Amino acid sequence: MTLRAHMMDCPLMISDILVHAAKCHGDQEIVTRLPESGQIHRQNYARTHERTKQLANALQKKLKIREGDRVATIAWNSHRHFELYYAISGVGAVVHTVNPRLDPKQIVWMLDHAQAKAVFFDKQFAPLIDGIAKACKSVKNWVLMTDKSHADAVQTRSKTYEELIGDQPADFDWPVFDENAAAGLCYTSGTTGDPKGVLYSHRSNVLHALACNASDVIGVGARGNLMPVVPMFHVNAWGIPYAAPMSGAKLVMPGAQLDGPSLHELIEGEKVSYVAGVPTVWLGLLNYLDKEQKRIDSVERVLIGGSALPEALLRAYEDRYGVTMQQGWGMTEMSPLGTVNALLPKHDGLDREEIVKIKLKQGRLVFGVGMRIVDDEGRELPWDGQSSGHVQVRGPWIASSYYRGAGAESFTGDGWFSTGDVAHMDGNGFMTITDRSKDVIKTGGEWISSIDLENAAMGHPDVAMAAAVGMPHPKWQERPLLIVQVKDGIEQSDATRDSILEYLRGEVPKWWLPDAIEFVDEMPIGATGKILKTKLREMFKDYEFPGVEA
Ligand code: AMP
Repeated sequence: MTLRAHMMDCPLMISDILVHAAKCHGDQEIVTRLPESGQIHRQNYARTHERTKQLANALQKKLKIREGDRVATIAWNSHRHFELYYAISGVGAVVHTVNPRLDPKQIVWMLDHAQAKAVFFDKQFAPLIDGIAKACKSVKNWVLMTDKSHADAVQTRSKTYEELIGDQPADFDWPVFDENAAAGLCYTSGTTGDPKGVLYSHRSNVLHALACNASDVIGVGARGNLMPVVPMFHVNAWGIPYAAPMSGAKLVMPGAQLDGPSLHELIEGEKVSYVAGVPTVWLGLLNYLDKEQKRIDSVERVLIGGSALPEALLRAYEDRYGVTMQQGWGMTEMSPLGTVNALLPKHDGLDREEIVKIKLKQGRLVFGVGMRIVDDEGRELPWDGQSSGHVQVRGPWIASSYYRGAGAESFTGDGWFSTGDVAHMDGNGFMTITDRSKDVIKTGGEWISSIDLENAAMGHPDVAMAAAVGMPHPKWQERPLLIVQVKDGIEQSDATRDSILEYLRGEVPKWWLPDAIEFVDEMPIGATGKILKTKLREMFKDYEFPGVEA
C-alpha cells in the first residue's frame, strides 16, 4: 500500500499568478500599443492587479456574471485583454476568446454554442459587432474596450470598459475553488464541420505556464522582455499572458498593428528580447528589415510555430540578423505547447548545415506531454528518426474531450488524443512533422510530405510563399501541384516555373517533383495566419495536370 504524503493540497488558481506578479514584480511593465489609437500605454503589474480587481467587481455586480458563465472577448493583445483573462477566470467564469478574423456567421455560431453572457470587443470590431449583435441571443452586455473619449460612432455597446470599471473598488478577495473548474474556452478553426470548443482549466493553464517557464521552453525569467505577436485569441497567445507574469517578465502587447514597420518600432522602442508568432508575421517583418536596412538587435530569440518554420526564414534571421529561431509545435487542444526546439550539448561542434537540419525539426518534447506515434492499425512505432505515423498525446494540459461533446472520434479508448498530425520522433525526443494527416500527398502507395516540398520551394529566391497539394491523377492516385506566390517584382512566367523546378531537382527526391506549378497573386491566409489549403483546394478543384487525360 502507498504511504500518503504530508503535503498541502493547494488548488492551482490562475488568480495566484497575478497576485504573485503584483507582490514580487509590481513595478514590471505591461506596455500596449492601444488598439483604438495606436498610442503607447504603460502600466505595471501592481496597477494591473488593482484594475483587474475593479473589473472583477464590475463583472459580478454590474454584469451579473456568475461562476461557470462564459464571457467572450473579440480583441487584440492589450493590457485590457490581459485584465479580462484574469478577472473573468478569477471570479470563476470562463474567458471565451473569439478570433475576429473568422466568418461573422461562424462567430455567431460560437457565441451561441458557448451561450456567452457578455462580449468585450475592441473598437475596430464595432462594424462586425453591429452586424451580428441581433443574432446573439444569449449576450446581455456588449462592452467596448476603450474609454468614453474613443466611443463615438459605436452603436452596439452597453458601456465602455473604462466606465465599467472606473467606479469600482480595487478590493477583491479572489475566491479559491476547484482547480479543475473551467477558466478558458477556445474553438479550433475546424476545416470540416463545426468548430470544436476546448475548455481549459485553472490547473491546466497554471501547469502549462510552469512548463513554458522552463529554460529550454520559453524560460525568459524576470529579465525577459516578451512580445507575444501571436494573438490572445489564438490558444491563449501560446500561454505567454500566464507565463510572463509568473516569472516577472515584461510584456509588450502589439495591439492591432502587426505589420513590419509597427513591429519593428515597438521592438526597438521597448528593447524586446523575445518574440513569438506564426511564420507569416516574421516574413512581413523580414521584408521590412531587408528593404529598409533596419535591425532588431535587442531580440535574442524568436519562437515560431503554428506552421512549419521555412528554412529560408531560419537562415535569414539567424545568419543576417543574429537572432536565434526556435520552432515550437502544438495545437489548440494542447494549450498549445507540445515541443520546442532547443539544442542539446551533444550538438555542440556540429557544422552549420547539421544544426540547420536539427532546427528545422518541430522540437523536443516538453515534459508533461506524453506522446506516441502509431501506424494506421494503431501499433506503436519506434522513435528511430524515420518511422512516420499518427501523433497521439496525453497530459495535464491536453483536452480530454471537446466542449459539449463534439469530435469524440479524436479521443482513443485508452486515454490519448489523436492530433491529426503525421510525424516521426528521434531518439532524443525531437519531433519532425511530415504532414497533417489530411494533407499528405499519396502517390503510388508512397507518401510525399507537403511540408518538406513547400519548405524546399521557399528556398528559391523568387518564391514568397508555396503550398503543395495532392491532385487526383489517373495513374498515381495523387500527384503534387505546387502553388506559388512570387515575391514582389518577379514575373509569373514559364521561365520562373522552369527555374523553380530546376531548383527543386537539387532539393527533393525526383518522384516528389511537382507535376505542375501554378501561380496565385495572393496566397489565401486563414484566421490564424496559416495558408488555407482548403481554400486552395476549392480554387483548384477542377484542375487537370497539363497533358494528362482523366
Ligand atoms: P491550431 O490548433 O490552430 O494551433 O493548429 C494546430 C496545428 O498546426 C497542428 O496540429 C499542426 O498541424 C500545425 N502546426 C503547429 N505548429 C507547427 C509546426 N511548428 N510545424 C508544422 N505544423 C505545425
